[in-house]
Amino acid sequence: MTEDAGQMGRAGEVSQVGGDRSGHQADQRGAVRIVFLGGLGEIGRNCAVVELDGARLLIDCGLAFPDADQPGVDIILPDFSYLTEQPERVIGVVLTHAHEDHMGALPYFLRDFDVPVYGTRLSLGMLSAKLEEYDLAPSLVEVSPGERTTLGPFNLEFFAVSHSIPDGMAVALRTPAGTIVHTGDFKIDLTPIDGRPTDLGGLARLAGAGIDLLLSDSTNADTPGYIPSEVEVGRALAEIFAAARRRIVVACFASHVHRMQQILAAAHQLDRKVALVGRSMLRNVRVASELGYLKIPPDLLIPVEELGSLPPEQTLILCTGSQGEPFSALTLMAGREHKWVRIEPGDTVVLSSSLIPGNEAAVYHTMNDLARQGAEMFHRGNAKVHVSGHAAQGELTLLLATLRPRHLVPVHGEYRHLTQHARLARATGIPSDHVFVCEDGDVLELDGGEVRRAGQVRSGMVFVDGLGVGDVGDAVLRDRRRLGGEGFVHVLATIEAQTGKVLAGPDIVTRGFVYEPESTDLIEEARARVLASLDRAAAEGVNDPTILKQRMREAASALFRERTQRRPVIIPTVMEV
Ligand SMILES: [Zn+2]
Ligand SMILES: [Zn+2]
Repeated sequence: MTEDAGQMGRAGEVSQVGGDRSGHQADQRGAVRIVFLGGLGEIGRNCAVVELDGARLLIDCGLAFPDADQPGVDIILPDFSYLTEQPERVIGVVLTHAHEDHMGALPYFLRDFDVPVYGTRLSLGMLSAKLEEYDLAPSLVEVSPGERTTLGPFNLEFFAVSHSIPDGMAVALRTPAGTIVHTGDFKIDLTPIDGRPTDLGGLARLAGAGIDLLLSDSTNADTPGYIPSEVEVGRALAEIFAAARRRIVVACFASHVHRMQQILAAAHQLDRKVALVGRSMLRNVRVASELGYLKIPPDLLIPVEELGSLPPEQTLILCTGSQGEPFSALTLMAGREHKWVRIEPGDTVVLSSSLIPGNEAAVYHTMNDLARQGAEMFHRGNAKVHVSGHAAQGELTLLLATLRPRHLVPVHGEYRHLTQHARLARATGIPSDHVFVCEDGDVLELDGGEVRRAGQVRSGMVFVDGLGVGDVGDAVLRDRRRLGGEGFVHVLATIEAQTGKVLAGPDIVTRGFVYEPESTDLIEEARARVLASLDRAAAEGVNDPTILKQRMREAASALFRERTQRRPVIIPTVMEV
C-alpha cells in the first residue's frame, strides 16, 4: 500500500461509519483501536472492543434494563452490527465480573460469535449457570489475578479489584502501541471481607513501566470522599438483627455474595434459621457456595415451606426484590401475595441495597405496603445497611495518582459522571487534551503512546421483548407509549371490492381511550365522520383498501383530536366482499 493510500484511509476514517477499512489501516500501522459499543453515557451495557492486528477483543458484554418510557422491553443489548460485518475477527471476551451490566448480553452475543470467554472462577461459574438456561456451552477460560496470558496479539494481565460482587478484576493489555488498563467496576475497600483488596501494589508496579491509557469506572465520580468498607454494613446489620423481636426479612442484590455472607453469619450468630427466596438468589447461593465463595454453616438454611413450623423470632428470610421489581419476592410479600411468607406487625424488614435511579416509585410503593402491614423498616436512608461497590472521588483520585496514566477515558457512567471524572483527572495533573469523554459508538486510536479520536461506528440499543431480539424498534415503542398514554381505537368497515361502497359499519371499538358507555355521542359522531369519508371516496371511484384505511384513520383522528385533545393509536380495518 502506498503512502498516499494510507493517508486517504486515515482521512476517510474520521467520517466513516462501520470502520472496516479504517480498522485495516490502523492494523497496518500497529495501532490499537478502542471502540465503545455501550456503557458510556448510561449505566449498563458495558462493552468495549479493543482491536489490534485485525483481532477484536471484547471487554465485557453487558445488558441494560429499560426505563419507564420503553414499555414492554425486557432488556436492552448493545448493537453488535459493527462486529457482525467480520465475525471471524472477534477472538474472545474478557469478563471483568459477573454483574448483568457486564455479562448479561453474553447469552445473545455467544449465539452469533463462537469465541472463548475469559474470567475468574466465580464470574465464569455465574455465567455458566446463566448460560444453562439458554442451552449454550461456550469455551470458558479461567484466569486469576496476578496471571499473565496471551490472546491473539494481546498480552493480558489481570488484577484483583474489590467490588459489590466477589472475584472482580481489572485487566491490562500490553501492546506495541502502548499499555492500556481497564479497571472494570471497582472500589478500594481496604478491609474487604474476603481479604482480597484492590491490588494497588500490582497496578503501581505496572505504572512503573508506564500506562498510556486508563479506562476507569465513573459511577461515583459525583460522590465526595471514600466509600466505607463492607464490614461496616455487617456491623449495622448485626445490631439491627440483635434488636429484632420477630421475623427478619432482608432484601439485597442476589449477586452481592459478601453481603449475603454477612447476613448469613449474623443470622447464625443469633440462632436464626434462614430461608432463601427468589430464583436468582437460590441460583447464586448454589454457585457461590459450590465454588467456595460463600460459607454456609450446616443446618442454617431451611426450605421456605418450613418457615411456618418455626416461631418467627427464630427465622430470617433472605430475598430478592430490593428494587421493587414486579413479581419479586419482596414485592409479593408487600402485596400479601407471597405463597409462603406473610408480613406481620413487628416484623423487621431491611432493604440492604442501593436505590437504582428509575426504581424510586416502585421501591417506595413496596416500602409503603410493608409499613402498612406493621413492618419496622430499615434502609440506607435511616441505617448503614448499604455501601456502594463503586469508587468515590477519593478512591478515583488515589487510583489516578497511583497509576499516573498518560491518558484517561472515563467509562461506566452517565455523561455527568464522565465529565466529573474528567475534572478529577485534570486536578491530578492530566492535561485536558489527554482526557477523552466519549459516548457509545466513539472510536479512539492509541499509537506510539498517543491517543486520538478516530471517528464513530454504528452503536445503538437492541431491545429484547420476550423471545424477540431486535424486532421491537423505536417505532414500536412510540406506539406503545401512545397506547399506554392515549389508548387504542379500532375502526372496521366492510366494503364492496368493485365500487368501494360501504356495505356494513363502520364499527368502532376503543380500549384505554374513553369510557365507552359515557361516550356514545363521540363514538356515534366518529362513526358518521368515517362513513362520510368512505362515501366521498366511493364517489371519487377510490376502492384501494390502503387508501380507504388512510381516509378512515384521518377522519377518526381529526375528530378525536378536536373533541378530546387526545391522539389514540387508530387501527383501521377494511373487509372487502
Ligand atoms: Zn459491577
Ligand atoms: Zn457495572
